[in-house]
Amino acid sequence: MILIIQNGYSCDYEMRLFASMFFREDEEVTVTQNFTYSDKNINVYTHIIFNGKSYFEDYNFKFDTDGKTEKLIKKIFIASCTKSFSHAALKIRKINFSWGVMCGIRPAKNARELFDEGFSKAEVREIFKYVYEVSEEKTELALTVANNEKLLLDNIGNNSISLYIGIPFCPTRCVYCSFVSTDIRTSGKYMPEFIEKLLVEIEKTAELVKLSGVYVENIYIGGGTPTTVSAEDFERIFKKLYGCLDLSKLIEFTVEAGRPDTITEEKLKVLKKYGVNRISINPQSMNDKTLKKIGRSHSVSMIYDTYKMARNVGFDVINMDLIAGLPDETPEDFNYSLNEVIKLKPENITVHSLCIKRAANFRHTENELTKSEDMNKMLSFTQMRMKEEGYDPYYMYRQKNSSGNLENVGYAKTGTMSTYNVNIMEEKQTIVALGGGGSSKVIIGDRIERVFNFKDPLEYIKRFDEILTKKDEILSLMKEES
Ligand code: SF4
Repeated sequence: MILIIQNGYSCDYEMRLFASMFFREDEEVTVTQNFTYSDKNINVYTHIIFNGKSYFEDYNFKFDTDGKTEKLIKKIFIASCTKSFSHAALKIRKINFSWGVMCGIRPAKNARELFDEGFSKAEVREIFKYVYEVSEEKTELALTVANNEKLLLDNIGNNSISLYIGIPFCPTRCVYCSFVSTDIRTSGKYMPEFIEKLLVEIEKTAELVKLSGVYVENIYIGGGTPTTVSAEDFERIFKKLYGCLDLSKLIEFTVEAGRPDTITEEKLKVLKKYGVNRISINPQSMNDKTLKKIGRSHSVSMIYDTYKMARNVGFDVINMDLIAGLPDETPEDFNYSLNEVIKLKPENITVHSLCIKRAANFRHTENELTKSEDMNKMLSFTQMRMKEEGYDPYYMYRQKNSSGNLENVGYAKTGTMSTYNVNIMEEKQTIVALGGGGSSKVIIGDRIERVFNFKDPLEYIKRFDEILTKKDEILSLMKEES
């Protein structure tokens, strides 16, 4: 058990986050911290008791709160607490510290908020370095992403929304999966009814769009693996979308085709016919041995074939996902995958750090994980190669359970950055979710209201009346905004 006692200032959430990076829940750890602020000086004294031994850190930081916003003061106080704790804990265990004591899943948002506070680029660099102890490499990444995100966020149309359609079926379940998805070999029997209900939900959403006076700017069909849907059913979904919604101002229409073993020429042609202008073909690794190990039922050669097929059908924005830190993969294996993907010249490449959530089967086989130093090498290599090849990082997030506390980054060639991806990170545009597993986010000024759809296809079908009621709830929230 990790016991944290804070006197003078409390930031339990952030302290627990950092404590979980150093210690397991089943370890006996006591952390006592005393915080004082006087004469423009922050002092945080940390005492950790672990395995019967004591570890201390006495951290001081000159900081004048005069004229600073409450938000900034809070950031600095929290960073001081987590830094004092981390410096004491680093005497016990070494962890990857390239993001220093920066909390939160959106480091670029942190940079943007500092810009909004009036700090210059040079000052933000200094804050990242001295307050958060973020490495130079990660600082540059965060600053570049913040800049690119801003360009996209500035272009969001007034009164515009995005639609997310979740298809929670996959051909097999990947061993590391932490998403909403069911194996089609067992849940496939629910697909026909799921599609019928989804068509009704689209109609209901169209009413909502009309009554709230907004228009649809982006559609993202994700999952699961959306291309588990047949070409005929895709056609029905698209016909319904175009039949009941005004999509004349639609800018981006993405379908996460995902796994090559579900993509056929027939499906791709239907997608193209209905205006899908961005698809993902996700290898995760370009090593057959790894694909087998992680439970993907496709080979590397299928990735090449599907990619070629998509180009022939006419898709000109293709994203490819890779994962750094897959089991038994060395930096050389990962670098090989990245270089193979680069050779294909997709417009977007997204590199994830392996994330182990409670639900995923890997949690109990920690020895399978690539060490975090190796992960860091993979991500550094990515950053370098992307720069060489003219890809710009434009969205980034960190996940709580990612190996080595590292980041996921979307890279894109000029003019092909996905607005939807930035929207979902930065929460500046309302997203209405349909289907399984999505959550609607209604932006009301500075407030965000979330409404969750059911994750499991069977629950979605059985409790469909509630799905329709939730759409009424979303409508009331959206009317609040206008
Ligand atoms: S394809 Fe994605 S959603 Fe489906 S099982 Fe694999 S990781 Fe999960």
